[in-house]
Amino acid sequence: MNTSGFDFDSRTISALSSLESDGRIPHAIIIEGSDREKTLAAAKFLSMYAVCTSEQKPCAVCNQCHKAMNAAHADIYYAQPEGKSGGYSIKQLRKIIDDAYIKPNEADAKVYILADAENRLSAVQQNALLKLIEEPPKNVVFIFTCENSRNFLITIRSRCTVIRLRNEHSFDEDVCSFARKIIEGMLSSKEYDLLKSLTVLSKKDKADDVLSVVTLILRDGLMLLSGGKPKTDAELGRQLSLSFNKRKIMELIEVTEDAKTKIAQYININLLTTWLCGEYRRISWQR
Ligand SMILES: [Zn+2]
Repeated sequence: MNTSGFDFDSRTISALSSLESDGRIPHAIIIEGSDREKTLAAAKFLSMYAVCTSEQKPCAVCNQCHKAMNAAHADIYYAQPEGKSGGYSIKQLRKIIDDAYIKPNEADAKVYILADAENRLSAVQQNALLKLIEEPPKNVVFIFTCENSRNFLITIRSRCTVIRLRNEHSFDEDVCSFARKIIEGMLSSKEYDLLKSLTVLSKKDKADDVLSVVTLILRDGLMLLSGGKPKTDAELGRQLSLSFNKRKIMELIEVTEDAKTKIAQYININLLTTWLCGEYRRISWQR
């Protein structure tokens, strides 16, 4: 993903990048975060990604990107609350539902951005959207922003891909220390060290955060290899940059993000740990 033109921190870039697979993003995305400006910028970025016609999406230079950047694209709809108590109205949602089945005007995709959705969509309204989100027309993308995705109906939330944008440096110290152990495991020659460090993933409430910090430290290594400054852990970043080349670190980031997605899908955690250990080993040891 090309995030130039957007002032995203490394954690946001990591969260956004985790959405991309085979040059596509999911059709229903919930962006969660306490910083409204940041969640809206992420929504705009993803709308650009959806309509961009270049291979390196979003290119920020094509006509589609330009219009998306200026929030003036005919196929990107920013829902403005029209309801009585500052929420979205049923009439408005019906319009969106009907419109979603009509072909895009000029792009290959249509994007609907519903900001502050947790406060603006009642349970009834969420239910009205359910079928559309369950079986969306081709190339339609729904982006909801919110402060807490748990306020959505579980039926909606489970059909969306949720990303969390946190403020920098907001991870607990124990989360960071678990993440450091995993990186040390990658750098160690003993498989046991790595496997042991990964047992933390069985703590469901920690796993996602720990892997997020692992990605951040890996990015430090990448940064140092590109002549940039590390942001999370300078020492481990330095060790990574001495032990691995760029390609390897990028692969390590990729499997880490993969593991996060798998954890969100509630797969068997023991199998996941074994798989991840194998992948980390394969990448670190290959020539
Ligand atoms: Zn473009």
